[in-house]
Amino acid sequence: MAETIFSKIIAGEIPSHKVYEDDQVLAFLDIGPLSKGHTLVIPKEPAETLDQLSDESAEAIGRVLPRIARGVMKATGATEYNVLQNNGSRAHQAVMHVHFHIIPKEGDGTGLGIGWKPQSLDNEEAAELAARIAREL
Ligand code: AMP
Repeated sequence: MAETIFSKIIAGEIPSHKVYEDDQVLAFLDIGPLSKGHTLVIPKEPAETLDQLSDESAEAIGRVLPRIARGVMKATGATEYNVLQNNGSRAHQAVMHVHFHIIPKEGDGTGLGIGWKPQSLDNEEAAELAARIAREL
């Protein structure tokens, strides 16, 4: 995998405002926050997208994400937040190293804006699709 700004942060080659670190996970403040406390949680394992992450790293991130979210909420006083995880440039991923955003939603409207345009789900198609996905797991 190509070097990214996040692999350089992991290596300590460029600075970051760290909030958490263990053997497998690092969390630090986003340099372009959507709201106060916007935090990034990344695996130290070099994977570009979530589907490429090992079970071990996924487990390590999953174990600490809620704790880091609690810390961000307590420190900022926010009570609502989004967790965002982008995969691929069309899905708004700019840094090609897996990362989870924890983004407090503030009363002043700062935080993540979401364009959500639901489509309808056809029953027959859904049954076939769900079975197809399940076979791939
Ligand atoms: P994404 O669009 O999901 O790939 O988000 C990448 C995020 O990384 C953006 O929110 C950037 O503001 C953030 N970012 C880029 N460079 C740095 C950096 N050096 N330190 C902290 N956050 C960064």
